[in-house]
Amino acid sequence: MTASNQLYQEVILDHNRKPRNWGALGSPNHRAEGHNPLCGDHIVLTLDVGAGGTVDAVGFEGEGCAICKASASMMTTVIKGRTTDEAQTMVQQFRDMATGKLDPERDAHLLGRLKVFAGVKDLPSRVKCAILPWHTLHAALRNEGATSTEDAGS
Ligand code: ZN
Repeated sequence: MTASNQLYQEVILDHNRKPRNWGALGSPNHRAEGHNPLCGDHIVLTLDVGAGGTVDAVGFEGEGCAICKASASMMTTVIKGRTTDEAQTMVQQFRDMATGKLDPERDAHLLGRLKVFAGVKDLPSRVKCAILPWHTLHAALRNEGATSTEDAGS
């Protein structure tokens, strides 16, 4: 097992066991649900965006596989305190990284530890699990309510 594979395994296991920011916020001003019917992942993401346009609080809950839960958990830790514009940029960077369109060492400066997910591009059946939380964040920021990895155009 390579070092990056091992880090990936450890991070996934840790966040799956102890998801950060678990639970829905009481009165969020942004909320969306995301479904990945291929795996059965379903998450609800709630955000409080402050007057300054920053993500002041975030919470998620739902049922998902380890990769989905770990991706969601790590996502909540990196978007807190970011502006909504930065969060949208991270959505784009994560999607591009997970589908192999972006070199994480060069172009994913906002993603930080989320670079461990770069390896999912070689596991086509898990790409949507990793991306689902980010799809859902995108929908929540735009207040679209619900999203699915199987929506047309996604
Ligand atoms: Zn999954």
